[in-house]
Amino acid sequence: MEQSLERINTALVSLRKGKMVILVDEEAANNEAHLILPAEKVSSKAINFMSTEAKGLICLALDPNKVESLKLPLMSSSSHSKTAFTLSIDKKEIKTGSSAQDRAETIKTAIHPKASPHDLVTPGHIFPLKASQNGVLEKRTPSDAAVDLMNIAKMDRSSVICQILNNDGELTNQEELKFFSRKHHIPILNIKDIIHYRLYYEALLEIKNEKQLDTAFGPFTCLTYADKITKNEHFALIKGKIKNGCLLRIHQGCLEGDVFLSKSCHCKKNLHDSLNALSKENSGILFYHPEPITKDRCQHSNLKISYYALASQLLKQFDVTAVHVLMTHLHEVNSLKSFGISVLSKTKLEP
Ligand SMILES: [Zn+2]
Repeated sequence: MEQSLERINTALVSLRKGKMVILVDEEAANNEAHLILPAEKVSSKAINFMSTEAKGLICLALDPNKVESLKLPLMSSSSHSKTAFTLSIDKKEIKTGSSAQDRAETIKTAIHPKASPHDLVTPGHIFPLKASQNGVLEKRTPSDAAVDLMNIAKMDRSSVICQILNNDGELTNQEELKFFSRKHHIPILNIKDIIHYRLYYEALLEIKNEKQLDTAFGPFTCLTYADKITKNEHFALIKGKIKNGCLLRIHQGCLEGDVFLSKSCHCKKNLHDSLNALSKENSGILFYHPEPITKDRCQHSNLKISYYALASQLLKQFDVTAVHVLMTHLHEVNSLKSFGISVLSKTKLEP
């Protein structure tokens, strides 16, 4: 199994036992690391551990529906902050709200399925964070990742989350984090593992339309499909009947190359060579992902991994798990493999 899926499974075992997991984002600019704990497993001991060992602010990541039901307003409507803090909370009629015991009580009260805004007061000593509707597939933040992870664990979606600081009160570096993980026997999970897990297992495709298309390269079936997160439309040109061992090309659309025949990239040539190759096969498929307009339209090294997830999901709908690939970069093959598609052979096109 893919390593990232294994890491998720290890984390799920810990979380279900009421243990913590360390969450990092390898691709973030800074070394932010957070301890996360299912809120349904909170205790004063866990809160005390977070305050003394992790030392960051103790927050409560909540799914947007829960924030809505508690009628918690955002602390700021500014889109500046990537983290959506709501007003801080305490349980109503609690002593000071600041002790570990009080904070655990506030969390238990807030996450109770029947909790109402009347059970809480603001401001307080627990800082709720509102996750996005689509979690990490929409916004790559620790709170989104924490809520997604609870959902994957089939637990209450609320999560206690606390940033880990080193002995000097600064962000931890990788070595310090590994030491922290070994010392306290807490597994480390990467946000990209959660993204990969969701892209692997969640049905994200919606087929919109199917029609026959007669082209200069012969007849194809053109499937239009959309992903449920961005609602963006993608296309699949299918030659013959799709079956295991068919020829596959994933082409990222390039307006300048494909349409205006720009000479500064090989996109048009790759597209035409691929369609030519497909026309000679009994079974083949070309995925065409129109690219959002960006400055570096032809810098294809930044292809989004989700394109491969979507292509893999569509292939699996046709019971295809092994393909011959026309590719420009090796990472295309690796991405397909990471979503459970075996690559029987690869033919290189000019990048
Ligand atoms: Zn191009």
